[in-house]
Amino acid sequence: MPQRCAFCGLPAECPLCNGCRDDLPWQEASCPRCALALPATTPPGTSCATCQLGPPPFEAAVAALDYRFPVDAAIRALKFQRRLYYLPALSGLLVEASARLPPGVDAIVPVPLHRFRMMRRGFNQSLELALPVAKALGVPVLSNVRRTLHTPYQSGSNRVERRRNLKSAFGVRGRIDARHVLIVDDVVTTGETCRELAVTLKRSGAEQVSVLALARA
Ligand SMILES: [Zn+2]
Ligand SMILES: [Zn+2]
Repeated sequence: MPQRCAFCGLPAECPLCNGCRDDLPWQEASCPRCALALPATTPPGTSCATCQLGPPPFEAAVAALDYRFPVDAAIRALKFQRRLYYLPALSGLLVEASARLPPGVDAIVPVPLHRFRMMRRGFNQSLELALPVAKALGVPVLSNVRRTLHTPYQSGSNRVERRRNLKSAFGVRGRIDARHVLIVDDVVTTGETCRELAVTLKRSGAEQVSVLALARA
């Protein structure tokens, strides 16, 4: 079987053809702390207003793309309809974006799913996306981080509700045996999930936390 582009379905030499690649919603400039898209004219290294007022508990964040069509549709198809053929294309974009991270990542923590949701979905998209990144960086994926709280779906809930939903959502078995931990997630929306996870990781021994996401809303 010849390889096909995950987005347009046409035969291609890699999982993402050049035409579809050009059409992706690339970020022009972004906040180095939270990966929020900023106007293209923003000088490099400038944080967004929110991070200037109160920096998040992670030191850096990189997103491959803006959370817009067709990436939003691809991520939803992957998660909710198990369109696993998107994984090579999407994880490839994540590996590329990882080159923009601060150096010295020691280990990766994909945002864990609660076991109830894991059972229903059958796979954790963040883990599947993170595996090729771990291979590219030559670092392990830590498996001792759990989502301890079964939180309702967050789309539609406001920031305050999200924060309350995520209170102590994560737990670590033992200690985090790494200095610089990279959180990998598919989509960063408000950043509350990554905030909560970063706080948990730092409480358990991590000194530095970076975030790598496929898309930033
Ligand atoms: Zn294509
Ligand atoms: Zn920011």
